Amino acid sequence: MNQWQCSNCGYIFGAETPPDKCPSCKEACTFQNVTCYIPECGGPGNIDPRLATSKKGDTKKG
Ligand SMILES: [Zn+2]
Repeated sequence: MNQWQCSNCGYIFGAETPPDKCPSCKEACTFQNVTCYIPECGGPGNIDPRLATSKKGDTKKG
């Protein structure tokens, strides 16, 4: 089980592979793998807080 974060709304969910559309915002967006692979955040199946980004301070070009 991997943890994925929606680049659009920041929703995080567990799945083997990311879906075509976000289950939260229903948009077709990219998903970042935020799965934890180190014991410090609980190991596989957990979210790595360093990878998961909050929506605050989101920088977008344009
Ligand atoms: Zn989303």
